[in-house]
Amino acid sequence: MTKKDPVDELREELMAHPDLERFFTDKVGMSLKQYMAGYIIDNTEVEELVDELDLEHTRCCSECGSPMYEGYCIENGAEYYCSDECLHKHLTEEEYNALYDDGRGDSYWTSWLD
Ligand SMILES: [Zn+2]
Repeated sequence: MTKKDPVDELREELMAHPDLERFFTDKVGMSLKQYMAGYIIDNTEVEELVDELDLEHTRCCSECGSPMYEGYCIENGAEYYCSDECLHKHLTEEEYNALYDDGRGDSYWTSWLD
């Protein structure tokens, strides 16, 4: 019979320990949720997060991939742009104004915050 790795035993004991999360927060200086969110932000494309988690307040800029809570919604969300700079890489002012159509179109600047 092969012996169990002591590090595996340590890991199991830690995972079952009631004070693991408090110890983690003291050690790392942030809550487990803050740490998880930071890890996810550093290692995941914004577009994947928005799609997979069905986020309410965040969209992903179709040009630069940055997260945005306000910006251009083009043709009912076919595309989103975070800034004039990103918008104008795809649409001229005239093309956007034609889509905007004085507020009657389905392309406009908006905020997804309440
Ligand atoms: Zn952008």
